Amino acid sequence: MKLYEFQGKEIFKEYGIPVQSGILIHANDEVKNLTPPLVLKAQLLVGGRGKAGGIKIWDGNIDVSKIINELFALTIKREKVNAILALEKVDILREIYLSITFNRGKSTSVLIVGTSGGMDIEESTKLNKEKIHFIEFDPFLGILEYQIRYIAKKINIENYSEFKRIIKAMYKIFKEYDATLVEINPLAITPGGLVAIDSKINLDNQSYFRHEELFQKLEEEKKLIKDKEDSNASESTDDTITFVPLSGNIGVISDGAGTGLLTLDLISDFGGRVASFCELGGITSSEIMLKALKLVNGHSSLKGILVVLIGGFNRMDDMAEGIIKFKKEVKNNMPIFIRMCGTKEEIGKQLMRDEHIPVYNSLNEAAEAAVKEARGN
Ligand code: GDP
Ligand code: MN
Repeated sequence: MKLYEFQGKEIFKEYGIPVQSGILIHANDEVKNLTPPLVLKAQLLVGGRGKAGGIKIWDGNIDVSKIINELFALTIKREKVNAILALEKVDILREIYLSITFNRGKSTSVLIVGTSGGMDIEESTKLNKEKIHFIEFDPFLGILEYQIRYIAKKINIENYSEFKRIIKAMYKIFKEYDATLVEINPLAITPGGLVAIDSKINLDNQSYFRHEELFQKLEEEKKLIKDKEDSNASESTDDTITFVPLSGNIGVISDGAGTGLLTLDLISDFGGRVASFCELGGITSSEIMLKALKLVNGHSSLKGILVVLIGGFNRMDDMAEGIIKFKKEVKNNMPIFIRMCGTKEEIGKQLMRDEHIPVYNSLNEAAEAAVKEARGN
């Protein structure tokens, strides 16, 4: 689950990470008693908000409600602005990038520190690899003091004890909340000390059972903000689905990234081209399957959809149910090819046959059939 900036900052505050004070404004809220200068920030789950105009500074020269209305009128990357965080503006001397996440390839946790944070972090690190440092650490030991001292020296942090406190707190959040990412970009050096200007926290959905109350509270808060009318917005920011639009004509849906990538290779081996890649994100449900199909189906030059499933925790009867729902709701006769195996495979396959949807045991055969269909033979 991705948290909004204001939600992440609540957690930061709880753990003693300095943030600006501020208030959350919902559409139609009556705003009064605001004092400039303020930074007004659209609350969105997509990145690159600042560059897209989602952050405005109010210096008191014009009516603040004018800026607020402008922000509420925005839609950034298909996400409509439904809440604004108003924060007291701070003076920034320097911006630093900080995050803790997993290095899945090496099975370690990693602290990532960038000499210059802010909106151009991706570009600036491409230009200069020296500017970014990866400090892997043992999850049983946590981030050790010498590692923090080393990095503080590398990036010229004067206020070491405060820097250390922030990193320790970030790791505590990472661990206690079962986060997959805790990011501060930027951490600002201000005349008054270090301040987390932005927050990005992603929680591991698989840890729901350990934090039921927290997840429910966060979901409730998100419901107030998430756009209900624009289905694209909620789908594109769905927590478990990964959707990558491409330029071919075969949509691929898989319930695991590995099989998904293998499928992309197979399609290209058979001479086909992929319209989009959609990964359901591990344990899933018929609703998510339905959503994924609708998402993939939106591609204009689509000639067929290939669904590749390996039932472990996922039940093939649930997956079949989602596919049938799609057929019933979206009556466009889009050819769908299914490869399914594993848990409840027989029931899933029977459901598919009953609906005359081709279902295969072999991934090769399914991929080949989809390519043939897309070619028109
Ligand atoms: P993002 O674009 O979604 O990452 O939004 P951020 O919250 O990271 O803000 C983007 C940029 O706006 C920051 O890198 C800062 O340069 C600038 N900014 C945000 N808040 C403040 C503030 O209080 N004071 C100043 N001077 N700049 C700010
Ligand atoms: Mn940011």
